[in-house]
Parts: sequence; C-alpha cells; structure tokens
Amino acid sequence: MFPIGFDHNALESLPLPGPKGVKQVLDTLKELLEDRLLPYFKKRHMTDTTLVSRVEQNLILQRFEDEGKQVPFLVVPVPDENGWVLKIHERIFDYIAFVLPAKRRGGSNVEDRKMRAFSEYFLRHELEHILYPEKKEHEVVRSDIVFAMDWSRNDPTSYQLLLDVLSDELNGIQGEAYLNMLKLAAEQEPYEHVIQNVLRNYVETLARLPIRHLQQIFIGLETVTKTRVLGECYRASRSTSHSLIKRSSNLQKVLRLFGYLIREDQQEAVKVLDRFKESWGLVTLFHELDLPEPALDESEPSEVFELFKDAVERQQEAEECTVPSPQVKPTKVSSLKPDSKNSKKTMKERIEEARGNPNFPTEVIEIIDRNKMNAKGQSGAKYSELIETLLAVPWNNVKKIDVSLEDFERGLNKSHYGLKKPKEIVTDFFANLIWRYKELDVNESHLWHHMGSAFLFVGPPGVGKTSLAISIAESLGIPYHKISLGGMRDEADIRGYGFTYEGSKPGPIVQGLIKMGIMNGMFIFDETDKSEQFATATLLEILDPEQNHMFHDKYTQTTVDIDLSNAHFVLTANSLENVPAALVDRCQVVLLDRYSSDEKINIARKHLLKRIREKYAIRPDEIFFEPAEENELLRYLIRKHTFEAGVRDLERILKTLFLRLHRRELQAKKKVSVQVNKDLIMKYLDEPNRPRSINEDDRVGEIMGLGVNSELGIGSLIPIQATPLKIAGDQSGKQHYISVAYATGNIEKVMDESRKVAVTAISYCSKELGIDDSQLNNPVHLHFMGAATKKDGPSSGGAIALALASLFSNRKIRRDVTMTGEIDTQGRLLGIGGLNVKLETAFAAGCKRVIIPKENLKGREGLERFSDDFKQELEILSYEDWKENPASSYSIMRVIAVDHILQAAEVAFVND
Ligand code: ADP
Repeated sequence: MFPIGFDHNALESLPLPGPKGVKQVLDTLKELLEDRLLPYFKKRHMTDTTLVSRVEQNLILQRFEDEGKQVPFLVVPVPDENGWVLKIHERIFDYIAFVLPAKRRGGSNVEDRKMRAFSEYFLRHELEHILYPEKKEHEVVRSDIVFAMDWSRNDPTSYQLLLDVLSDELNGIQGEAYLNMLKLAAEQEPYEHVIQNVLRNYVETLARLPIRHLQQIFIGLETVTKTRVLGECYRASRSTSHSLIKRSSNLQKVLRLFGYLIREDQQEAVKVLDRFKESWGLVTLFHELDLPEPALDESEPSEVFELFKDAVERQQEAEECTVPSPQVKPTKVSSLKPDSKNSKKTMKERIEEARGNPNFPTEVIEIIDRNKMNAKGQSGAKYSELIETLLAVPWNNVKKIDVSLEDFERGLNKSHYGLKKPKEIVTDFFANLIWRYKELDVNESHLWHHMGSAFLFVGPPGVGKTSLAISIAESLGIPYHKISLGGMRDEADIRGYGFTYEGSKPGPIVQGLIKMGIMNGMFIFDETDKSEQFATATLLEILDPEQNHMFHDKYTQTTVDIDLSNAHFVLTANSLENVPAALVDRCQVVLLDRYSSDEKINIARKHLLKRIREKYAIRPDEIFFEPAEENELLRYLIRKHTFEAGVRDLERILKTLFLRLHRRELQAKKKVSVQVNKDLIMKYLDEPNRPRSINEDDRVGEIMGLGVNSELGIGSLIPIQATPLKIAGDQSGKQHYISVAYATGNIEKVMDESRKVAVTAISYCSKELGIDDSQLNNPVHLHFMGAATKKDGPSSGGAIALALASLFSNRKIRRDVTMTGEIDTQGRLLGIGGLNVKLETAFAAGCKRVIIPKENLKGREGLERFSDDFKQELEILSYEDWKENPASSYSIMRVIAVDHILQAAEVAFVND
C-alpha cells in the first residue's frame, strides 16, 4: 500500500462529484493503468503477459468512502475472490474529479496534469504489489524511487509535476518524506534511512487504525508489513503509557488480526506467527487465550500453531455471536450516488442551509434554484456538479485576521534573514491591515470589503520571493494558494470553462477559494514576467480595486460576482522589464536584491543549517563548524561551489555536505562527531563546473569585460577580443573605418553603440595611447565571447576601447585585469550599475585589478555604500593612489577608480 498519508482536513470543502464525475475519474485512472502502467511492467520488468492481462481483467477501481475520516491513506488495495479492488480515498478521488478538465475542449490544466502524474505514480506502486505479491514494502518503495528517477531523465515534465504535488501541502498529501527521498536519490545520496522512517510511520499509522478498517486493509499487506503491524499493536498493548482499556483493545486487535489471517491464508499465518514469536514471544497471547504456558516449550512449532489457531477461532466465534462481522465486500462503482454519503447532508439539506445563511449571496441561491430541477434529468450530472461547486465556494466567508503586529513581524524575521526593505514595505501595509481588522465586528463580516492587497515581488531566483509571501500568509494566520502563470495556454486556464461543457471546471481562482475555504486568503502568482496576454488581462481585473469585487469565473457563471477585494495577491517576477507596465501600476513593487556573500553566510548560519539539521535529524554536536572558522568556511563554499544570486544552491550544497559527512564519517567510521574543515569539504564535494576565469597569459587585444544577467542576478566574465582582419587592400583607395568593424557575440543595440563610441574615443586619444593613426585604417574583428547569451548595456565601452587600443598600439593587457565603465567619444569614463555583482564575479574569476569609473566611488551605486565586510576583501584606490603604489600585494583584489581611458590603459597594460 502506498505509504503516504494525508490530512483529512485539507480539501474538505470540495464538491461531491456526480456519477459522471465519478466515471470520468475512473476512466482516467483506467486509462493510466492500461495505456501506461501495464505496458511499463511488460517492458521494463518483463512481467509475464498472461499475468498482466489477468490483473487487467480482474482489477476494480473504486471510490472509497471514509465516513468517519479514519483512514489516512490515499489508496487501499483489498483482495477479492477474483482479483483486487483498489479503493481510492474519497478525498483524493474528489480532488481528481475537481481538477479534471472538460473533455470536449480537450484542454488540460496544471492541477490536472499534476494529479495525472501523481495518480500514475501511486497506481504503479499498487500494481507492483499486485503483480509481485512476494515483494516487500521497502522493495516497492525503492522501485518508486527508481521509477521517479527514470522520469527525471526521460520525462522531466512528469517528474516536476510529481515533485509539485508532493510539495504542495494544501492538497493534504503528506509527501515531504517522499520528496526528500527523491531529492536524495537525484543527488545520488543514500536514502535508505528515509525509507526506514517512512515505513516506521506507515506501520504506526496502520496499527492505530480502528479494527474494522485495519481488518480490511491487513489482508492485502505483504507478510513483513503484516508482522510489523501486529508487532506495533502488540507493543501498544504492553506500553504503560496507555490506559488499561487501550492496552487491552490493542491485544484484542492482535488476536483478531491473527484470526482473520488464519481464516484467509493459513500458510501465511504460520509464517507470521513464527516471526512474531521471534520478536515478541507468545506468552502473553497464550495467557490471553487461556492456553497453558508450558505447551509453548514442550510442543513442536506445528502443534503450537494448531493450539493457537483453535483458541483464536474459538474466541472469534464467540465474539461473532455478539458483534456483527465487518463489511469487507466492495461496493460496485455503479452503485455510487453522490448523496450516498450518509454521514453528510444531502444536497437538498445543504441548499436549505445555504438559503438560511445570511452570507450566502441570493443570486447564487437563484442559480441553484434554477438548475435544481435539471439536476434530476438525463444530463443532470453537470447541473448537480455546478450546484455542488457553488455550495463549496466560501461566499463572503472572511476570516478575521487576529494577530498582533509583534507576532507578525516575529514571523517574518523568523523565516527570513535580512530583507530589511522588503519587510518594511510589507509590514507598513499589514500593520495597518491588522489594525483595521481589530475594529471590525465579526458578525458583520459580509460587509467587509477592500481589505485585500496586491504586491509584486521582483528579484532573481532564490532570493526568497515565494517563501516570503508564504511567510506573510502564515504570519497572518491565513491560507495561501499558488498559481503558476507560466504554463497557462488560454483564458479558460484562469477563468474556467463555461459549465455547459461536459465535465467543465472552475478556474484556478475559484478552485483556490474552495481550497482555502475563505475569501481573504493569499494568492501567489508565480512567473508574472512569463504570463500571456490573456492572463495579464484577467490579472489586471483581479488587481483593480474598482473591479475586483465582481470577478467572474466562466464556470460559476458571469451573473455571479465573486468578491476578491479582501484577498491578498503576491505576484513574483525575476525582472521588472518583462512585466507589463499596467500590471506594475496596480501593485506595490517590492524589490528583492541578490544577496552579498555576507548575507548568504548569515542566511546559512541562521536558517539553512538549522533547517537541514531539523530535516535530517543531525544534531549540532554531531556535525559542526568551529565557531571561529564558520564564516570563512561558509564563504569558501559560497565562492567555490555556488554561482547564484539567491541561496538555493547554497542550501543544496550544504545539505549534500552534511549528508555525506553523516554517511561516510559518522555512520561508516562510527565517529560520534565531525568538525567541518576545508579538507573534508574538498574530499566530499565535487568541484563544480566553474564559470569562465582569467586567461593563462597576457595578450594583445584581449581584455575581460564584466556583464550582469538581470533575470538571474548573476554576473559573468566576458572576454572581449580584437583581432586584425587580413582582408585584401582596397583597390579603389576607399578608406576603412574601424567603426564599421565586424562585431560578433550576440550583442544588442546599446552595446553595439558603445563599440562605435569606443572606436571614436581611441581615435580621439590615439597619440596619448601610442597608436599610429595609419593603423586605424585596418579592419578589425571584435568578438564578445559567450555568443549563446545576449549582451547589452553601455558598461563595456571602456573595456572595448582598451582591447582596441591594445591591438593598435601592440601592447599586451594584463591577464588579471578587468574593466567596467561607460565611455564617451573623448575617452571620459562614466558610472555604471550592478557594481557589487561585478566585483564578486571578478573576484571569483581570479582577477586582481578591477578598473571602475571614479563616479562609482560615491552615490547610490557607490562603493562607499558597500558593507564593511565586503570592503574588507578589497583594496580600493583612486588612480592617484595607485600611481604611488602600482605594485599589487597579490593577496587582495585591487579596485582602481579612474576617470579617463588613458588612466585605465596605464593600469591595464603590461609595463614593458
Ligand atoms: P524565489 O521565490 O525568489 O525564487 P524562494 O522563496 O523559493 O525564492 O527561496 C529559495 C529558498 O531560499 C527557500 O528555501 C527560502 O526559504 C530560502 N531563503 C531565501 N531567502 C532567505 C532569507 N533571507 N532567509 C532565509 N531563507 C531564505
């Protein structure tokens, strides 16, 4: 049985699928079985074809109703006379029904694709048990991992969808442990210990099930798990922390399960009793059954079994006279009716309840009344689904936000280090919101409007945009719903399909409202910079305070206004450039910048390491840094092993290091503690593929330029090469101009203009640069390396001028020099942006001299604003200071501020 649990309280408000919805889910799952999984077993596992077709014919899929919310498993396989019944828990079943898109439109949405991938995953698990009953649970879990790794290589989309389902807590699926296993496997780290944990939890959960459910499930489990469940029940019966009643009912559970197993499969019962005896002994069970204890020592094992069997059967016969036997026969799919949920109210009762609820809009009641009659007719299913959905929307249900400002701020600070400015902007708004909520009367929540917000978080990947949004929601005590704009294909993906289409569904906004259960939760829209026009148009409406109290979803009908004015929206984007201006206008923009190395060190110390320790149960006294060395070692890891603006890779690399130390040093060498040092880091972490570094020799016509990728927030070294073009002389005597020099390397307009300006600048200062003017007639090929990436911006003008000047004056440029700075036509240098990224890039690449414009010493982008920690690693000099002391100590990177290309040339050229 798939050992992933789930939370009953999530998705509780989902509409009940009608018979058509049930059929659609069953058909979808059957398709997955027939078209993908059975062929997979034939091909990959060489499973016998007759066995496969037997299973195919005798496998029944069913929706499993768990009235008392007692079974926290997604799918319960139950053997029947001919084959197997796979009972899909109603929560997950209804969720699949909820997200399946309209058939006729043939479309699919992200949630639907996710659920298909996930269903395929858990069905594969069950199928392996059915086809190979002798396989133990941990072997099948291992195959799950192998299967996922196959996906990660051959079908990365399905793999990503699977990861998304496992990591989305809102659907109630408790997938974290599986997610961990997959991540470890992907990084080729050991994951056996996580399997053990998963199975331990699984057995404990099984053992806690009420006997009537456990009895049904028990017989379908493989032998090892059966023994472990019996052992767990027995353990509970011996635990002094339980009451006497609980202890005795657990002992009865053990005997009942044994009795049931003896009845179903005596051979297996012999085996299980044998294993049980080895672990726990049989004395207590014998006492409970009034059997003589000496018989245990004096009899043969087969006699012991017979004695035990007779006594258990006698006890059970006696019980069956008084207790009705459990219902194990599966109900047929066709007998499922939407209102057969006896524990729940009928649709009629719920409609009446809604009618009496002052929060429930009268227009919605009217629609329900209009469609009620149709719900009984031939094509009634779609009408009853519409009604169920309308009943499930949390109309006007606004939760009072009731936290103190201090707790809110504490929440943000607890989850995220730094981010002073973003937190301040966010707190300004939410402090006021918290205060406004205090004034509101809970009994009048239907009158609350316009309490929502719209933020746009902009910054490179991994700087905390999504996690900060989640932290805001958690600190406010409201749920959140993530919607990715990247994968949407048409308007229906955001507004839903008209309900008249067979099997249509509401869009993700209404789905989110139903999932969250309140109207003032938080929507997080990812990848706003990649959204299509139709999505932008809808977003504009949603974010407009004038319009967003009357949002319309096509499914829930355009006559019904959905009030989104109390909801909170956080949009995220990597760069502002690609977000439509109108959207930017509607939001409060919050910029999250790349982190400096010092900030990353602090994030690692205060957050990432803590998280890794908690997740993998590694104590600070087991693997630790010497406090005096911690900063330096973290800096080393950041510089050598990560090339990013955020901290995602850093978290990954720390996790890999800790797990490897845990396995190789603690487990294998049986040490009690390990202190992290540079040698261990070098031993256990592979050298990453380094980005470009400096050349091996000084060259004429070549210099390192510096670029910044604003989307990723990382810098790169761009070698700029000027090479003479040996083209036959011009017969006509026409002049060549190097401004028309041949340029390659994927440069855009602004950068190309810098090239022209640089040409003019060096011709303007040719004499001072030692260039013979006749040289300027020779054509040149100027190339910017890394042609796969587009390059633009004015800041490489100075470096281009140096490359050309070097070529025409035939002087070498030092290999460890790099330059950034805009140039004007007379060789003056002007300030540039992104200096911190550029300096870090230069440092990582091994540069020793960085030439920057003097303008960058002061002002908004000025070096003077950089942190002292950052500046400590640099020697910052004016051109004049450098002149006095041109020799570098080589221990530190020198940043030399110049204001003219002539000064730059002096710093850059090799002094012959
Ligand atoms: P983004 O949405 O910007 O791509 P995420 O929010 O997904 O980034 O963050 C990536 C990871 O880095 C998360 O695990 C997050 O908790 C962590 N993280 C980012 N910034 C911080 C920070 N300032 N403090 C603590 N953890 C952080």
